Amino acid sequence: MEEKKRTVTRVEDGEKVKKTVKKAEEVAETAEAEVKNVKKVETLSKAEEKSKAITLRIISAILWVFAIGFEVLAILCLFKSLRLPGLSQMWWMIIFIVLDLACCIVAALLWKKASHLDPFKKTNNKVGFFILTQLGVIMAAICFIPLIILVLTSKDKLDKKSKIIVTIVAIVALLIAGLIGADFNPISAEEKAQAEESITQDVYWTAFGHKYHTYEDCHTIANSSTVYNGSVTAAIDNGCSELCYYCAKRAEKEENLKLEGLNIEEGVEAAGE
Ligand SMILES: [Zn+2]
Repeated sequence: MEEKKRTVTRVEDGEKVKKTVKKAEEVAETAEAEVKNVKKVETLSKAEEKSKAITLRIISAILWVFAIGFEVLAILCLFKSLRLPGLSQMWWMIIFIVLDLACCIVAALLWKKASHLDPFKKTNNKVGFFILTQLGVIMAAICFIPLIILVLTSKDKLDKKSKIIVTIVAIVALLIAGLIGADFNPISAEEKAQAEESITQDVYWTAFGHKYHTYEDCHTIANSSTVYNGSVTAAIDNGCSELCYYCAKRAEKEENLKLEGLNIEEGVEAAGE
């Protein structure tokens, strides 16, 4: 009886080993797949892009109103019109500055996302285009500069040390909100339309890159573990602004080679005749 039991155990062990090996192989396969992880991104219709952009812009506007509200609360704390329990005046001011900053950051990120989904027109309205694409910077200024000026010009409202700390915190918040609010790679409605018209093939891009690539093996995205793939519309919707320089050059070269090839064939045919 005992021997039989042992034999059964051995078979089970064997199976376990096989299973473990299989699992290891699967893990290895998954690991390999992760290295070349290409995620397909669906293209939104123009109507979907527009409605999504409107929703994002409304949320941004609401958040900026909240940000200004927190700035006002910080100012009220400064003038002691608002006395809150538990913490010192300085700490309440810092809390409101941080809340102000949080609202500014989220609002600016959503605003920039909307600017890619449904970009503003640039033609005949360069100033308007600049204001609308850089609204995050303008709002950062509105949400912090009045407070900074009031803190600096106020007398006997805060002790010297608290005044310095609040000023530094507010200036740092202003810089962060300004940097995040700035759109360093803005795209206009005209540029998006032109890209959609000229690039009909699928493109590739990375999570934080601002360029889309026409070649999956482009060296600039070779080290990215996740590459997104989809139409040029999807690439722009997800933060891209322009075609990669190297991909453009390569396409130009390959097109030339193809043309040369055609010429040679034509020449041969002509000689045969
Ligand atoms: Zn490229």
